[in-house]
Amino acid sequence: MAPIDNQNKPALRLVCLSDLHDAQQTVSVPDGDVLIVAGDICLEGRLAEVKRFDDWLGTLPHRCKLVIAGNHDWPFEIVGKGAAINLLKNAIYLEDAGIEINGVNFWGSPWQPEFCDWAFNLPRGPRLAEIWDGIPSNTDVLITHTPPYGILDEVFGEHVGCEALAVAVQRVRPKFHVFGHIHECHGVLKQGETTYVNASLHDERFCLRHQPIVLDLQDP
Ligand code: 5GP
Ligand code: MN
Ligand code: MN
Ligand code: MN
Repeated sequence: MAPIDNQNKPALRLVCLSDLHDAQQTVSVPDGDVLIVAGDICLEGRLAEVKRFDDWLGTLPHRCKLVIAGNHDWPFEIVGKGAAINLLKNAIYLEDAGIEINGVNFWGSPWQPEFCDWAFNLPRGPRLAEIWDGIPSNTDVLITHTPPYGILDEVFGEHVGCEALAVAVQRVRPKFHVFGHIHECHGVLKQGETTYVNASLHDERFCLRHQPIVLDLQDP
């Protein structure tokens, strides 16, 4: 029998997914320490969808579950925000806020460049830059709904991620940047000190096609 190698045990196992769009019932999620959901919980943006999502979260074993909103998650926008957050009993909701877990600093934000007037839309440029200025420099794991410009963000050959977020990520240099939103680009890309993760489970035809992505974070 092979010896147990405690040296290789990760400090923290992160399990990342995004863009469930109310189709979570058939998704199987590997176990881990921290579950990260990077927005687009809803399809239509109804409170009932938030309730179904939270009930499903309740069946998962992860000891910590972090959730941000996306552009489909209207219940978390100004109107009805209290009700949505009250329904989310099985997760910690991060909206331009952070949490430290085992010495690892997480930060989450729902905002994205405006497109068709959805929830948490802001114009490209200074308004978004101001939001990203709030990301602390000691962030280890950054969670946003939008990709940064130029990384896992292509739609028909055009980059549509957030330019100001790309600048902020260069300042913060997190170990991981987890996002979704651009269904075309599910995958992982390491560039410099940062591993970028587009964790969208839906593909560009709105079919549930991908699996959650598991990341191991070694001792900080
Ligand atoms: P969702 O509606 O789930 O936020 O995004 C679904 C799809 O809409 C994406 O996979 C992408 O094809 C398209 N989309 C979302 N945001 C943008 C954007 O800012 N620009 C462009 N061109 N397409 C987008
Ligand atoms: Mn840093
Ligand atoms: Mn989506
Ligand atoms: Mn989206």
